[in-house]
Amino acid sequence: MTEGWSATVLTLFPEMFPGPLGISLAGRALEAGLWRLETVDIRRYATDRHRSVDDTPAGGGAGMVMRADVVAAAVDAVHPAGDPRPLIYLSPRGRPLTQKRVRELASGPGVALLCGRFEGLDQRVIEARQMEEVSLGDFVLSGGEPAAIALLDAVIRLLPGVMGKEASGEDESFEGGLLEYPHYTRPQTFEGREIPPVLTSGDHGKVKAWRRARAEETTKERRPDLWEKFLRDRS
Ligand code: SAH
Repeated sequence: MTEGWSATVLTLFPEMFPGPLGISLAGRALEAGLWRLETVDIRRYATDRHRSVDDTPAGGGAGMVMRADVVAAAVDAVHPAGDPRPLIYLSPRGRPLTQKRVRELASGPGVALLCGRFEGLDQRVIEARQMEEVSLGDFVLSGGEPAAIALLDAVIRLLPGVMGKEASGEDESFEGGLLEYPHYTRPQTFEGREIPPVLTSGDHGKVKAWRRARAEETTKERRPDLWEKFLRDRS
């Protein structure tokens, strides 16, 4: 392990990386050395003639399951015992990712991400390597790669030096337990719709109060779960 925040991605499709992470904010940060990316092809750790990484599910049923022995060999090669970085398996059965966990990951040394394919991993390797299971949400992707990219994108923008100081991210959705207020910019009139006058009044106190009210209103309406939690945490 050398300096800097480092990500290791274990995947059957290494050609998907850096992908979107090689572009724009994350891509410039990668080039600048603000984070590092290592991509590991799980198939390299297959041992049979056919380089097989999956097999039929015990108990029967549709699809294929990723083999515990092959996945363990790949994990052990790049995330040895004592590696301080959390080992995360992207999975719809995991704990949903939150901005809080994203912040924790950004303040740590990095992460090792395991992307599943087919029906997912043999349960025994998840347990044997004590993987943290993280979900992107209550829907099913065809593979863990888009989830790994989304997780890394969320973390990388928070790494020191990646975003300009004017965009610290402190004001954003979820940071204060609320969704963010709505945004406006020029032109002053768009298809007959005006920018809310308070935003162009120059009164910073009023702007702040208006934004706060909109944030509360939107959260209450769209995310009663977040609103309840916000009220509970405040009291
Ligand atoms: N049979 C599994 C779904 C497998 S989808 C089930 O019903 O739970 C194949 C792979 O896509 C998974 O191993 C996982 O790595 C990834 N994946 C699918 N949905 C995901 C989600 N919501 N969050 C994170 N990873 C997901």
